[in-house]
Amino acid sequence: MSNSFCVFCKIVQGEIPATIVYETPTTLAFRDVNPKAPHHILVIPKRHLSSLIDLSGDHESLMGELFSSARQVAVDQGLHITGFRTVVNTGRDAGQEVDHVHVHLLAGRPLKWPPG
Ligand code: 5GP
Ligand code: ZN
Repeated sequence: MSNSFCVFCKIVQGEIPATIVYETPTTLAFRDVNPKAPHHILVIPKRHLSSLIDLSGDHESLMGELFSSARQVAVDQGLHITGFRTVVNTGRDAGQEVDHVHVHLLAGRPLKWPPG
């Protein structure tokens, strides 16, 4: 359920500090330490899953909870008024740095599309 080498698992366990903005029994949302937009929040499942490739049918409800949490964070922070982007990077070419599934929630300025 938890990976002792994983930085996001350490945040879930309270071993690394983070600015937590929202929490449910299965998900956690906190501010990105190196924000790429005025609002940059990461929404993660509390249990360790390395990437979308590791998902199976067993995780369908968890992924629903993950996106419901992302939506709730956006509404709580008022990001839905001007809009926001949700991004899930998977693997090297997408620039995935942390091998624990996370949804980036980006907002607060016009966001370029498509990304580079
Ligand atoms: P990825 O490139 O894997 O999609 O995104 C990983 C994100 O995690 C990056 O935006 C990076 O800034 C963020 N990050 C990495 N380590 C930490 C940390 O210890 N705390 C927080 N809050 N964010 C982190
Ligand atoms: Zn993890």
